[in-house]
Amino acid sequence: MKIISGIEVSNKIKEDIASEVEAIKRRGEKIPHLAAVLVGSDGASQTYVNAKVKACELVGFGSSLVRLPEAISEETLLKEIERLNNNDNIDGFIVQLPLPKHIDEQKITEAIAPAKDVDGFHPMSLGKMLLDIPSFLPATPYGIIEMLRYYQIPTEGKHCVVLGRSHIVGSPMSVLMARNTYPGNCTVTITHSKTKNLAAITLQADILIVAIGKPEFVTADMVKDGATVIDVGIHRIEDTTKKSGYRLIGDVKFDEVAPKCAYISPVPGGVGPMTIASLLKNTLLAVQLKK
Ligand code: NAP
Repeated sequence: MKIISGIEVSNKIKEDIASEVEAIKRRGEKIPHLAAVLVGSDGASQTYVNAKVKACELVGFGSSLVRLPEAISEETLLKEIERLNNNDNIDGFIVQLPLPKHIDEQKITEAIAPAKDVDGFHPMSLGKMLLDIPSFLPATPYGIIEMLRYYQIPTEGKHCVVLGRSHIVGSPMSVLMARNTYPGNCTVTITHSKTKNLAAITLQADILIVAIGKPEFVTADMVKDGATVIDVGIHRIEDTTKKSGYRLIGDVKFDEVAPKCAYISPVPGGVGPMTIASLLKNTLLAVQLKK
């Protein structure tokens, strides 16, 4: 069994991006700039946004954090997005989700200029992904693709089972694994909460990608010997032995599933760091596509 280290892969990606930024500086060109919009003060969202801003600093990107109050109206938020769309210094930006209940997330996502949609959630980005047109891939599925590539995990002709069909993880993941390229060329089964006999399906998976948001849902009896398992879930559970008072676990019961696997991504240290690395890659792509 080999652990897929998202820390190792994301560090390599960040090193490559930092070298590219150095080359951009040497050419006297504008340094890439990523902005993040944070609405309200949700703890997890703040942690994610801070990590994204810190990653920008690490690779030499410019970054800005736009903090807006929880009670902001949809109209004012849309104006803020328009301001970012029109700001030439900003190459790409993200609006951290989830947004407060009174704001329509889809409307906000669609208001982002497709050329700056580095989260890859705009219908234009998703449509281009379906058509194999170079564009911004949704950050988490993109990160998983890069992990499979880094570890040279064979995918062609394999059966990939994706648990979950969310617009940001499961659905795009299933599309990417079926593409006629590497990593890809899998036969893909996508499952959801209405799927019957789930274990019978997961047991057929050569590659199992789990994004359902249920702590330690996938157990050893659901996994085939020699499978590759990618755990997207992140959950904080109370742990008084930790200084923080909590620890992170995934959607997979790691201790019992890992011994059966050829490869497995842990939580933490698996998919999480890759999501940020993909965001940086997308920001660099935004600069290249602008040219
Ligand atoms: P989501 O929007 O809540 O979607 C969950 C999906 O799982 C839904 O499609 C749901 O089906 C399906 N599902 C629920 N119970 C199921 C079951 N028993 N069997 C099969 N499918 C089932 O979640 P998400 O945004 O995709 O996120 C999933 C997890 O990944 C969460 O823990 C989230 O925190 C984590 N995440 C991590 C990262 C990262 O950077 N590491 C990024 C994004 C998300 P229905 O459609 O039928 O409801």
